[in-house]
Amino acid sequence: MEKEEFAPVIKELMTQLAGKATEGQVAKDLDRFVNTYGVTLTAAKNGILKKYGATGRSGGSFVSGNAIIKKITELKGTEMNVDVTGKAIFSEKKEITARGVGKTIVSGILGDDTGTIPFTVWNDMEINKGECYTFRGAYTKKWNDQVQLNIGIRGKVEPAPDAKFTVPSNAGGSTAPVLKIGAITEKTRNTTVTGKLLSVDPRNITVKGEPKTVYGGLIADDTGKIQYTAWNDFKLETGATYTVKNAYIRSWKGIPQLNLGDRCEVARSDAEIKVAADKNTRRTVAEIMKTGGGLDFELTGLIVDLRSGSGLIGRCPQCNRTVLNGECRTHGKVEPIMDLRLKTTIDDGTGAISVVIGRADTEKLTGISLTDAQKMAADVSTTAVENKMAAAVLTKQITVRGNVMSDDFGPQLNARSVELKPVDITAAAEKLYGEVEANL
Ligand SMILES: [Zn+2]
Repeated sequence: MEKEEFAPVIKELMTQLAGKATEGQVAKDLDRFVNTYGVTLTAAKNGILKKYGATGRSGGSFVSGNAIIKKITELKGTEMNVDVTGKAIFSEKKEITARGVGKTIVSGILGDDTGTIPFTVWNDMEINKGECYTFRGAYTKKWNDQVQLNIGIRGKVEPAPDAKFTVPSNAGGSTAPVLKIGAITEKTRNTTVTGKLLSVDPRNITVKGEPKTVYGGLIADDTGKIQYTAWNDFKLETGATYTVKNAYIRSWKGIPQLNLGDRCEVARSDAEIKVAADKNTRRTVAEIMKTGGGLDFELTGLIVDLRSGSGLIGRCPQCNRTVLNGECRTHGKVEPIMDLRLKTTIDDGTGAISVVIGRADTEKLTGISLTDAQKMAADVSTTAVENKMAAAVLTKQITVRGNVMSDDFGPQLNARSVELKPVDITAAAEKLYGEVEANL
């Protein structure tokens, strides 16, 4: 163990020793115990406390040298030092960036006879699916109402080859909540949903050098659609309705996706599913901001802004990205393909969202064709095109439909279809007059 890793341990010991030893003495002892004698951190802490005659205060924030041992369903989310033994049901390494430095951590799901719990080990180590481990000196936290097990700098994970667990399929506090598809957000961890399969596409991928077939597609209920990936062959059929128990959620660009893994149970369902009509995938901007992203959302609002990059643009013939002054960031000087686009901001009263509208709908909304725009740009300027388009669309009410993705700049809807919804001022006035008159 490195010096920096000892710092929080020394701090903890110093409060418990209450002046009975100096920080230098404690640091030296700790280093000797752990690095020279190779004892566990828990034993080292015990030894040091004993050596200086510190007697543990009962209760309070005092962390006893011996971690308490708990079963998974006994974990409350407030444990500071706990030992848990279980079987790794799922385990994967993740690359993260902590304080600007890349780091590998391990996350997964641990199960015992009472239930399951998601875990994170904050350093790189081998935790193999199907094998048993004791998580020593772990701490727990509650996130989204779910308790999580963590191994930080003061804990460690030891193989427990003699342990045997029969993990209940739907155990205790970790039961996946039953959700409607429309209620799944990028923060959902796991869920049970019932929906109709709209498509099943097998894909051949390579996992750890081995070829594997996974199945992907769309599943829908009356509140929305979601992409799914089945990591095993559940013999899924398009058009059939299934209840998917204990699927876990992974998000890509803010769009939640359903994963059917080893822990997942898939069963045919007799439920009558009315696949979301477009009116059911309607969202307000506030709702979209909460979800982060999703498929096939419909939104109605006013175009309140047209941002730069709207109007006549050039695209790289190789990568389709927009070019600036005839230059692609990747491919250098190119002969751009001309295109039209509107980068709008749409406000529906609950919030504002970026909506990008492609060429066909831009022509429809503005009444300016690509040929018109190119002519105007040659005669006057591209700014003139942008200004004329702004005049045509600003404060218009439109209904847009498309997928919403999130990046560092927030969610953005890429319009697949656009409909102008004229605000009927006369009708609105007559309705108001009628209401006023009725009250006279
Ligand atoms: Zn390019």
